[in-house]
Amino acid sequence: MRDWHAALSGWTHFADRCLGMLFRNPCPLCLRPATQVLCQDCTQRLQDCPSPVSPIHIAGLPPLYGWKYYEGPLKQSLAKLKYDRQRQVAEPLGEGLATLWRNRVELNGKSIAVPIPLHRDRERQRGYNQADLIARHFCQRTGLPLQSQGLLRTQSTTAQYGLSRSDRFQNLKRAFALGPGLRSCAPNTQIVLIDDIFTTGATLKAATAILEDAGLNVVALFSVAIAERRLSKS
Ligand SMILES: [Zn+2]
Repeated sequence: MRDWHAALSGWTHFADRCLGMLFRNPCPLCLRPATQVLCQDCTQRLQDCPSPVSPIHIAGLPPLYGWKYYEGPLKQSLAKLKYDRQRQVAEPLGEGLATLWRNRVELNGKSIAVPIPLHRDRERQRGYNQADLIARHFCQRTGLPLQSQGLLRTQSTTAQYGLSRSDRFQNLKRAFALGPGLRSCAPNTQIVLIDDIFTTGATLKAATAILEDAGLNVVALFSVAIAERRLSKS
């Protein structure tokens, strides 16, 4: 009886794999058939990636909430999303970020989610803004309103080399402008900024400054990945 069950289970698994190969997109990370965006193994590996202790407090920035460290399967997922046109990867990443939101009782639901924009040339080249895709899935799961046009990236910010820290900040700040989606907001409207990877914080600091100059209240930064482990020890 046990053998019969084992054989049946083996055939079922085999049939699932065949059907998966016929009807579903392969998992972008391992190319095996997947019933969701990522296969079960990669979903688990992503879940098992280490997480920082949030919120992370950094001088001059609102509290930072990071889902996972930027390594292993998460690094691979973000590379697929950004450089391999695998836009569907935004779904599990937005879902992960939403889990982080739901676990934070200190945050209330009155905020508007605003993704960090790409410069239009970069967005045209890529075909989408990965932070916006992540924010869409985040908002579907948390119920927060999304404002994709909250911020604009008015300049490309590749020419940062050779500038001092304060010049870099001013340069980055000039790269952003308040978008049409937030121009008629009441003062002190709560904003949650959404980004894919947190590295030095310079981009988020500049974006926060633009919103605060407009009288808005940036209550939290949500980033899928945190690049440096030392940040959580602050
Ligand atoms: Zn996989």
